[in-house]
Amino acid sequence: MKHDLVILGGTFDPVHYGHLRALEEVREALGLPKALLIPAGSPPHRQSPWAPARHRLEMVRRAVSRYPQLEVCSFEVERDGPSYTVDTLRHLRETHGAASLSMVIGMDAFLRFDTWREWEAILDLAHLVVTGRPGWPAAELPEALRQALYRRRCDDLAALRRERAGKIAFFNVSALEISATRIRSLLAEGRSAAFLLPDAVLEYIVAERLYCSP
Ligand code: ATP
Repeated sequence: MKHDLVILGGTFDPVHYGHLRALEEVREALGLPKALLIPAGSPPHRQSPWAPARHRLEMVRRAVSRYPQLEVCSFEVERDGPSYTVDTLRHLRETHGAASLSMVIGMDAFLRFDTWREWEAILDLAHLVVTGRPGWPAAELPEALRQALYRRRCDDLAALRRERAGKIAFFNVSALEISATRIRSLLAEGRSAAFLLPDAVLEYIVAERLYCSP
């Protein structure tokens, strides 16, 4: 049987409703029963995360614990060395054979996608579903991505499932102007981050004293 899959990778430092809602809306539009969140171990594209990987993984687990349609994959956290998406997708390909794989990516990340390791190989392993993000218009796409988009664009999410990989879709999700950076700075200032992320995650942050100023 073919187990089509949709995934969202990220630092999740911490996970918030912007991540969860975007993934849920794409999952539903693709007509899939399950979606996978993949916290990065040591992300190569940005400065080190503020919270250690085991805490970020645990926060994602708590965020989705009441939602059977969302699962967490600890593959990147458990691996040694930097987390490269291309390696994760190769691993998922081994277990999912000819299934259709779709990877959700926010517009902010997509604008730099051509700097990711083996980015063209990524497109041979999965579709990209690019979601709009407040404050990140698509205007300034690098030339290499513009060309890839010209060859690969397909905004019909139902059609993505007929192929295993290779398409780039733009898909509008509810615009939630939430970022982990803002949540961290609110918490460091001792301010409330309520309603930006699940209570279970906030409770964990408080209990573990994450993101508070030293
Ligand atoms: P930071 O503020 O620390 O950079 P972040 O909030 O952008 O973090 P990441 O873990 O870096 O979160 O994001 C993982 C993925 O989720 C990226 O593809 C990103 O574009 C997407 N994403 C993050 N926040 C939102 C949001 N509010 N709406 C839609 N997509 C989002």
